[in-house]
Amino acid sequence: MNPKQILLSPPHMGGTEQDYIAQAFQDNWIAPAGPHIDLFENRLADFLGENTQVAALQSGTAAIHLGLQLLGVQNGDEVLCQSLTFVASVNPVLYLGATPVFVGSENETWNMCPDALEKAILNRLENGIQPKAILLVHLYGMPAKMNEIVRLSKKYNIPILEDAAEALGSTYHGKLCGTFGDFGVLSFNGNKIITTSGGGGLICHSETAKQKAIFWATQAKEAAAHYEHKQMGYNYRMSNISASIGLGQMEVLSKHIQLRRQNHAFYQQFFDTIPQVTLHQEPNENFNSNHWLNVIQLASFEQREALRLYLEQHQIESRPVWKPMHLQPLFQNNLYFGDHLETELFNNGLCLASGSSLSAEDLNRIRTALELFFNKL
Ligand SMILES: *Cc1c(COP(=O)(O)O)cnc(C)c1O
Repeated sequence: MNPKQILLSPPHMGGTEQDYIAQAFQDNWIAPAGPHIDLFENRLADFLGENTQVAALQSGTAAIHLGLQLLGVQNGDEVLCQSLTFVASVNPVLYLGATPVFVGSENETWNMCPDALEKAILNRLENGIQPKAILLVHLYGMPAKMNEIVRLSKKYNIPILEDAAEALGSTYHGKLCGTFGDFGVLSFNGNKIITTSGGGGLICHSETAKQKAIFWATQAKEAAAHYEHKQMGYNYRMSNISASIGLGQMEVLSKHIQLRRQNHAFYQQFFDTIPQVTLHQEPNENFNSNHWLNVIQLASFEQREALRLYLEQHQIESRPVWKPMHLQPLFQNNLYFGDHLETELFNNGLCLASGSSLSAEDLNRIRTALELFFNKL
């Protein structure tokens, strides 16, 4: 019999999710409205700390869309985007008719390089264009260099939208990712730190902004008994059933972050003995990653593919690093500023199984497979 497949980052239920769902059924709150949505938003805001509010939405992508709209991004604008990311970070820029200008990564966090960002800003200013927003990502849970990026945001008066879809619980200088920018984004997709099956959150710093997001997310209905509309809206509100799953997940959030960090310690111990492999790690103690995924850099593309296929034979899932956006056919005509570090990361990088539900037995299987692979090299 084949062993069961070890997945990259599967959903991990805490146990009480179904109690909340049962409650929602009992009260017949089977709708994109209901008490569990507000409760889930409050639990998230409590977790994120003072001066934060969260609007619960159907996806992280929807949260990025509304965040950009709240920043006033519109047709013809330019948005400075991290190139190394999942396409969901950038698609909403296109929804608004705006143009992404891509910024490369630095080699410590793999996130938006502050020097490349400043070059991009200066170039756009020289061309008479004031970029409308900076859209950065805390990729794989690793906090970006926020001090430097916030400084540039202030210097050039460009607001920040922080894509923290992968970074719930990560901190930079003790402050939680998603709370630095004018707006922050969380995702509760099935593969993220916690899941609502599908879902997202927009982190705001005022009640007005949160209410505006919810207004747009519910078809921009004006206050009237009949249906009155002055603006275009969307159907983006989270459902009360998804929020019920979220309430159960909030009870295990801290534990799951701790388990992801333990997985990282496991990989760290293993790869310490393999000189040809570099494990992606925090540059120093000011960076605290949730280690959503553990990522290694191998000696070459060939070695990366060999390991990926070897693990696949052992029923262990792994994935190449995100293909940079400026290399995607979708964005072939967009500007890019950077040193092309992300091309190398894409070629040599591999994401390893990192779910919070990995058992001791799973970890043993992973260790054995990795040992066999690297002993043969
Ligand atoms: C998952 C993810 C998103 C999108 O979230 P969804 O909830 O799937 O729409 C955005 N950005 C990054 C970096 C992600 O990993």
